[in-house]
Amino acid sequence: MASILYETTEHFAAEMDARDPLAEFRQRFYFPKTADGSACVYLCGHSLGLQPKTAREYVESELKDWELLGVEGHFRGTHPWLRYHRLLSEQTARLVGAKPAEVVVMNSLTVNLHLMMVSFYRPTTQRHKIVIEGSAFPSDQYAMKSQLLYHGFDPANALVELQPRSGEAILREEDILALIETEGSSIALIMLGGVNYSSGQGFDMAAIAKAGHDMGCMVAFDLAHAAGNLLLKLHEWDVDFAAWCSYKYLNGGPGCVGGCFVHERHANDGTLPRFAGWWGHDETTRFKMGPDFHAIPGAEGWQLSNPSILSMAALRASMDIFDEAGIDRLRTKSISLTGYLEFLLDRNPSKQFEILTPRDSQRRGAQLSVRIKSGGRSICDRLIEEGVICDWREPDILRVSPVPFYNSYQDVYHFVQCFSAMLH
Ligand SMILES: *Cc1c(COP(=O)(O)O)cnc(C)c1O
Repeated sequence: MASILYETTEHFAAEMDARDPLAEFRQRFYFPKTADGSACVYLCGHSLGLQPKTAREYVESELKDWELLGVEGHFRGTHPWLRYHRLLSEQTARLVGAKPAEVVVMNSLTVNLHLMMVSFYRPTTQRHKIVIEGSAFPSDQYAMKSQLLYHGFDPANALVELQPRSGEAILREEDILALIETEGSSIALIMLGGVNYSSGQGFDMAAIAKAGHDMGCMVAFDLAHAAGNLLLKLHEWDVDFAAWCSYKYLNGGPGCVGGCFVHERHANDGTLPRFAGWWGHDETTRFKMGPDFHAIPGAEGWQLSNPSILSMAALRASMDIFDEAGIDRLRTKSISLTGYLEFLLDRNPSKQFEILTPRDSQRRGAQLSVRIKSGGRSICDRLIEEGVICDWREPDILRVSPVPFYNSYQDVYHFVQCFSAMLH
């Protein structure tokens, strides 16, 4: 994408939109409106993706089956609920670079992290540390710390938090790899965000997985900010497990059911401890209601409960649009669109802000994190008042994400116009 020569004019943004092969997808989503009824500039897909206009009919179809069939909807519905989650397996597998049996849609993100750790965080006295980013999402920190405590370890020394070098904002990959090499024999689990929620930094997951495995560690990723954003190849990268939510870049709606990946080498490992529930039990005998648990091979064996059909219906609406657009094309546009945001911000001479996110497009997704040295919170509030929606992360970060599905070059242009007018 280095070949794109951006220009600063509004005309350039309009021309880029006119030439964008994915431009029509914008029409498939509802945009929040300002008080005067005009559409907002929505740059917050890293937090909650927009509603596909088709979500309602997908959900209503299930409401209708419930209305007409009651419990029989499990077997005789248009899409029988008994196997409904499986309608999402192939699409999800394509999106994260997995085999269908390696993925399952279930629960929500933090729950899935815990369930995965029950099986894959198996500390010994020698090897018990967990490595995370120092700036990991709080829920991940709580989950890791509580797992350590649960197993009788003190997070103060068993939780290894990766920190940038002093004066730097992002982690250096060489430092991560060096830490794995020096401390690897005491590390049980490496668990990083595929893209860090705060800095927007994306990691070389293949290299980290390899380095971790060379030292005998389990390697996992929280893909909350990576699923639907980056091109992922979880199977090929040999990641042990991953979990993500579906309400950010996947547009599944607030609180939507999450996703989970378990590498196929663990699919039939009967020695793994796990917390079991009936939905993970072998389907052919599930309704015999016997007392002994027999796991479905693969990721589905980690299911506990029958999942929310209405939530999965909304997610299917979005996943069907992902299939039409194709994650490859979306990623290509994303690199160009975020590059354009970076280009325009770089043209602003103000010293009041700086971009924290890596400059290399391979090491980030749609989001740019902008550190504002003073008055940032009020800038964010004023942007939202003017119908330009991004968000604020304490102490000083404005997160801005042009999402290739529904954002345009003109959205980016208007954001930078509004933002620049608020700087002093
Ligand atoms: C959004 C996000 C979460 C949220 O967790 P839920 O269990 O879905 O509420 C957790 N971790 C990361 C890294 C996130 O970005």
